[in-house]
Amino acid sequence: MRILSGIQPSGALHLGNYFGMMNRMIKYQQNNELFCFLVNYHALTSVFDANLLRKQTFDAACDFLALGLDPDKSVFWIQSDVPEVTELTWLLSNITGMGLLERCHSYKDKTAKGIPASHGLFAYPVLMAADILLYGGEKVPVGKDQKQHLEVARDVAIRFNNTYGETFVVPEPDIEDNFATVPGIDGQKMSKSYGNTIELFADEKTLRKKVMSIKTDSTPVDEPKPIEGNVLYDLYALFLDDKGKAELKERFLTPGLRYGDVKKELFEVIRDYFAPYKKERDRLAADKQYVLDIMQKGARKARQAAAVYLERARRNVGLDYNN
Ligand code: ATP
Ligand code: MG
Repeated sequence: MRILSGIQPSGALHLGNYFGMMNRMIKYQQNNELFCFLVNYHALTSVFDANLLRKQTFDAACDFLALGLDPDKSVFWIQSDVPEVTELTWLLSNITGMGLLERCHSYKDKTAKGIPASHGLFAYPVLMAADILLYGGEKVPVGKDQKQHLEVARDVAIRFNNTYGETFVVPEPDIEDNFATVPGIDGQKMSKSYGNTIELFADEKTLRKKVMSIKTDSTPVDEPKPIEGNVLYDLYALFLDDKGKAELKERFLTPGLRYGDVKKELFEVIRDYFAPYKKERDRLAADKQYVLDIMQKGARKARQAAAVYLERARRNVGLDYNN
């Protein structure tokens, strides 16, 4: 199956990205055709500093490679290296209803957080639909926050096929219940643009500070702690299997548990989980040309796959005027 998903280099990658998307993608690559890309055109909706965008794009490539994305087995590239996606965006724009985009809550959430209300941010889901349809993505692993955008992509694919004849694969979202919405340290969805993240490769001091500042309630030490909506519990549970989760739950329900102790423990759990990848991460970061070569090679493979769908779409809408 062709599995496809992208991630924005809009900030340092975090636990929500890892469990909601990255780790699942890396696992899928064993038995599927994986297409994975860094969506820097999308990041332009929120990043207005060119040097920062460059740095974050390179860092995200290093993160993904260090964590196990295999560029020989999979197609791994940077969105803007296949600029044809912007052409497809235009073709899709004309059959995307305004109402469909007006209903998207991500736009409202982001503008409420101070991200400029630009046309680009409003049209974000159309570019995302183009990302998926251009490569014939069948299944798209995402967090729950992207569910609505996936529905837009499906609607657009169906409408395009109905208007112009069979052109695109209609993609299916793939959301994993356990990792649908990883909370940030303030309890809202963990998001690069909300400043509430726990980064994958932060230095120890920063990681400790972030974990120690996870929002907790004021239940007295000698009372059972709530599980529902408990950010500390939810973040710890990401790293546990069912048995581990049952044990953690038991500890929370037993009077005497101190949130501070659990935070110290969780800091170590996160640090130790990512430690084995850190060396490779540092090695890649120090070998820029090696990483750039990988991304260029990925872009060539992506471009080949894109040509099939783009040519078909151009023909079906009638841009092949010489015929
Ligand atoms: P931004 O704030 O700039 O939108 P982000 O942190 O939301 O950044 P994206 O690049 O938009 O990250 O999303 C990349 C992938 O990670 C998507 O599949 C998205 O659904 C997933 N994801 C992002 N945040 C979370 C989260 N808190 N829990 C689960 N999945 C998430
Ligand atoms: Mg997002």
